[in-house]
Amino acid sequence: MNSPSYIGRFAPTPSGYLHFGSLVAALASYLDARAVGGQWLMRMEDLDPPREVAGAQQAILRTLESYALEWDGELINQSQRHEAYAQVVDRWFSQGLAYACTCSRKQLEAFNGVYPGVCRNAGHQPQNAAIRIRVPELEYRFEDRVQGVFAQHLGSDVGDFVVRRRDGLYAYQLAVVIDDAWQGITDIVRGADLLDSTPRQLYLQELLGLPQPRYLHLPLITQPDGNKLGKSYRSPPLPTDQATPLLVRALRALGQPTDDGLEYASPKEVLGWAIKHWNADLIPRTRHIQEAELS
Ligand code: GLU
Ligand code: ZN
Repeated sequence: MNSPSYIGRFAPTPSGYLHFGSLVAALASYLDARAVGGQWLMRMEDLDPPREVAGAQQAILRTLESYALEWDGELINQSQRHEAYAQVVDRWFSQGLAYACTCSRKQLEAFNGVYPGVCRNAGHQPQNAAIRIRVPELEYRFEDRVQGVFAQHLGSDVGDFVVRRRDGLYAYQLAVVIDDAWQGITDIVRGADLLDSTPRQLYLQELLGLPQPRYLHLPLITQPDGNKLGKSYRSPPLPTDQATPLLVRALRALGQPTDDGLEYASPKEVLGWAIKHWNADLIPRTRHIQEAELS
């Protein structure tokens, strides 16, 4: 099989519709791939049916199509990948690398997000328990193409983290690492809200002997009150009939050049122009951009 030197992806979660912040992420990952003749794959991260909004998957795909963001190959659904995740978790469990945690929600709250390993040596059975992976007392660091060096001490900043939830659903951190490697992803371009997930992902890659992709974490588009422009804040879904002006606006958010003529161009023409002019070095080196500051 030939292995292209760049394979990127967009990996939306169907817990809501695409909003302007998702467009910025989709556009940046698309342009970064296409500018070097790379592939751009699509993966639906439908790991959490209870949080899924009915019709969101189709709406996301239709919205991307109306913005002319065409992906390569077949769409992958994480809901179809449980066997691959189960194999890894079962192996880690039998090796003692992962263990069952029966701590209640109330107990966990007292730990303020850093699990101190209470159940590490308790020998709980895996049924009706969360499965946590043991983390080493080590710092994991990487150089992000936009955000620079980012480091986290897994022991003191994160603690043993969940790879399979008590309800049997698999965790994002696990699925993303397995699937990025399975799809041959070389470059991950996504929002800076996932910057502090990356050290956990580097650790899982190391455990699984997987290659480490390059990372580019984009500034998040925030609302005036500082909230992430995300589904949980009910930001408006992207309109499908204003693709050209919104693509141009997303280009500005990414620090890319634009041209007056673009406003009369089709979405496909805007993308063609943007591929030619793409320069990732122009992306603002910040974690947040206020949406109100964008023209
Ligand atoms: N599914 C995640 C989200 O929608 C993105 C995961 C990733 O890009 O690694 O926030
Ligand atoms: Zn526990």
